[in-house]
Amino acid sequence: MPKKFVYFFTQSHTEGRKEMKNLLGGKGSGLAEMCSIGLPVPAGFTLTTDVCDLYFKNDRRFPKGLEAEVVKNLKRLEKTTGKKFAAADDPLLVSVRSGAPVSMPGMMETILNLGLTDRSIEGLARKTGNRRFAIDAYRRFITMYGSTAMGLEREAFDTALARLKEERTRRRLHAPVERKINDTDISADELEELVKVYKAIYREKTGRDFPQDPLEQLWGAIRAVFDSWMADKAVTYRRVENLRNISGTAVNIQQMVFGNMGERSGTGVCFTRDPNTGENTFYGDYLINAQGEDVVAGIRTPMKLAEFEKKDPVSYRQLVNVRRVLESHFKEMQDLEFTVEEGKLFMLQCRTGKRSPMAAFKIAVDMAQEKLISKKEAILRIKDKDIEGIFYPVIDPAQREAMRQYYLVTGIDAVPGAATGKVVFTAHDAEAWTARGEKVIMVRKETSPEDVGGMHAAQGILTATGGKTSHAAVVARGWGKCCIVGCEKLTIDYEREQFAVGQTVVHKGEEITLNGSTGDVFRTALKLIRPELPAAYKSLLEWADDIRRLGVRTNADTPYDAQRAVELGAEGIGLCRTEHMFFDTEERRQAIQEMIVADTVEERIRALDRLLPYQREDFKGIFTAMDGCPVTIRLIDPPLHEFVPHDEAKQRELAAKIGISYELVRARVEQLHEANPMLGHRGCRLAITYPEILDMQVRAIIEAACECQQQGVDVRPEIMVPLTMDRKELQVLDTRIRKVSDAIIAASGRKLSYLVGTMIEVPRAALLADQIAQVAEFFSFGTNDLTQMTLGISRDDAGKFLPDYVDEKKAGVFHDDPFQSLDQEGVGMLVRMGIEKGRRIRPKLKVGICGEHGGEPKSVEFCYRVGMDYVSCSPFRVPIARLAAAQARIKEETADRNSRRPVSRKRQTKTNKGPTRRTKR
Ligand code: PEP
Ligand code: MG
Repeated sequence: MPKKFVYFFTQSHTEGRKEMKNLLGGKGSGLAEMCSIGLPVPAGFTLTTDVCDLYFKNDRRFPKGLEAEVVKNLKRLEKTTGKKFAAADDPLLVSVRSGAPVSMPGMMETILNLGLTDRSIEGLARKTGNRRFAIDAYRRFITMYGSTAMGLEREAFDTALARLKEERTRRRLHAPVERKINDTDISADELEELVKVYKAIYREKTGRDFPQDPLEQLWGAIRAVFDSWMADKAVTYRRVENLRNISGTAVNIQQMVFGNMGERSGTGVCFTRDPNTGENTFYGDYLINAQGEDVVAGIRTPMKLAEFEKKDPVSYRQLVNVRRVLESHFKEMQDLEFTVEEGKLFMLQCRTGKRSPMAAFKIAVDMAQEKLISKKEAILRIKDKDIEGIFYPVIDPAQREAMRQYYLVTGIDAVPGAATGKVVFTAHDAEAWTARGEKVIMVRKETSPEDVGGMHAAQGILTATGGKTSHAAVVARGWGKCCIVGCEKLTIDYEREQFAVGQTVVHKGEEITLNGSTGDVFRTALKLIRPELPAAYKSLLEWADDIRRLGVRTNADTPYDAQRAVELGAEGIGLCRTEHMFFDTEERRQAIQEMIVADTVEERIRALDRLLPYQREDFKGIFTAMDGCPVTIRLIDPPLHEFVPHDEAKQRELAAKIGISYELVRARVEQLHEANPMLGHRGCRLAITYPEILDMQVRAIIEAACECQQQGVDVRPEIMVPLTMDRKELQVLDTRIRKVSDAIIAASGRKLSYLVGTMIEVPRAALLADQIAQVAEFFSFGTNDLTQMTLGISRDDAGKFLPDYVDEKKAGVFHDDPFQSLDQEGVGMLVRMGIEKGRRIRPKLKVGICGEHGGEPKSVEFCYRVGMDYVSCSPFRVPIARLAAAQARIKEETADRNSRRPVSRKRQTKTNKGPTRRTKR
């Protein structure tokens, strides 16, 4: 059977349904559904999104058979309405509107009053007894058709309108200059003159007369709507919103109803609940005697619904009834467009309304409490962006004009939120300026561990290179600090302490604002606001915790971060990167540098002895903050060259401080240089070469644990070896870790249990996971490195080319950035294999993830499906992971139900506390 391209809708016969959103678009399926539940909707028909898809596949030609279907449905519409399309008396006029499956506000085209010609306008004037109205509709149509279907500058029409108002209308009314002339002041005769001017503009710009054949108008409008799907702004919107796998827009052709027929007519937009606060109040705007475009264009200030109620209570009551019917039917907050034509209400659109993060929580929780939806449905309605949006400071949206005026450049939105501060270019300045009470934004080509102090002090971070898992992004995310990376248009001149974007130069000390949620940078200090955490957020996350089975831990390196993560719901630490502790203060930096440049084991041990108390104190703080929860501490991981200075001045400074020659320092730094450091002397390879580093770290962990235990803290240390690739390698280190630990425990006379496990981040470790599990008591998948090594893509350099791999207009190789959302096909296969092989040897092997993916919803769902025990992520992503874990379980239950497989008892029973793979731990 040939494909059906067109779906008709009217109250008595509707071919579409709300479930056909992908085929009919949001607007088309909404109109069909409203018809089928008896709401007043002008009749019409929808061209499917398939037509759009075929149109583009076919070099912008309409598919065969479409024309006949459109003509057939047009006839049907004539029959339903009792009017003839564009006839000389009582003409049928239509609107032509886009409607994609996902709403893309303001992105695509609409044409109203289609079917008006020199002939049909007379019919409309006669039928309505309102000549002015008919001519006004015609001049609107010429503007919309000219600008939309023919691509003419709208400005030419607007200028002619403005001139007419000034030269004719103002003079006729004897209006003083300070009085604004409204469109409604223009007389019928003046409008008639305007139509002539518009037609002349049309002829001049297109070389043709304005079309008098209504079918030519209709096809021109359909084509314009489809073309708008591929307009730059629409393509960009889809890219930015990460909207993929949508084949195109639908086109809705619908009988016109008129809100501009006088004082008993009007048009409005409204939301069934307040989209900003989520309050259960009717919210919207209404404009008397106007067409829809007037509301959007802001030609006149609309009235609030409360005023509408006073002005026209009869129409308002009809609207309130529609609100009630739609909310109980869709069980979701709706965004409505409507028109009142001489006291009769018509619905032109209903769709799920966009809302602020705050409102998303309030509406979901309220609806569950009103029993409109279940708690599980409420959980499924929240997106990770809603959670992010609730925490981060945001730019006060009232400053729209300033945002436009001071916009500078856009980079990659690495960590959302907003920050303002003075530009600094070094970590030293960032720390020093912050210490004297200034707010700063640290601007770097890229960041390195040496910059961590400055990064921590800064309000936000902006880098010219790097992707979403670059050093700057990972570190900033851990703190929930606004960060923009990969801003390639920045030319940074460290020497002159300035950066440039094209001709614009920004100097050290100038104020800028970052919007980490969009990647936008502004050259001024915009006002930021921090929204309060609403009660609905807390309720919803409690519901999520009751449902989920996957544990949620955090990646935290300091007692402060650990405490904050606990407040956000973390149930343990899945990764404590111990090397971050070496950068906190000058003394620590010096001690680690001294250890690295040491020439002999004795010297190295002496330097390590100085580091020991710092680490021990940090671990004590972390164990205390995590009382009763597991704490996974990873031994040192980065290559040592990252810790030492690379320029002569700093090397000389270090040499002087530790009392050795500059030449020695320089020689040692040169010795550490590697061509490929991420595949070089790092991770557990360091402990193989320098076991004394391992000794110090293990000592610090176990001594801290013993001391905390003595003070009544319930400590559960898990010592983790990074970058393992072989059983023997792990065995050597495991033996040493246990030897050091057991000696300390024995000496303390206490009973302390601890685990020794490994990260799985080298593909070989995943492939040989059964062998590794003979030694390891737990696995933690380090998917940052595992992705890097499986794909052979450097995580620090990916920003330069990976976007092309994700961009559907370029290569479109990956659906998502694999450093952000786990590559489930490739890296995921290694993860599955690793878990399966590991548990074959050690059935109760505890398994988690601690790469950046541990806080990304799709990856969290994957982790649940493959049977991990927990995910671990940055403190600020903990609530996102809690929600995603609950959503994963709900989706699994639904899938199980749909395939009629009973959900296993183990997963149903929350009280099952045994060490099953799905118990939170
Ligand atoms: C990883 O590789 O996934 C990981 C967590 O370790 P890091 O990011 O510190 O290399
Ligand atoms: Mg790693």
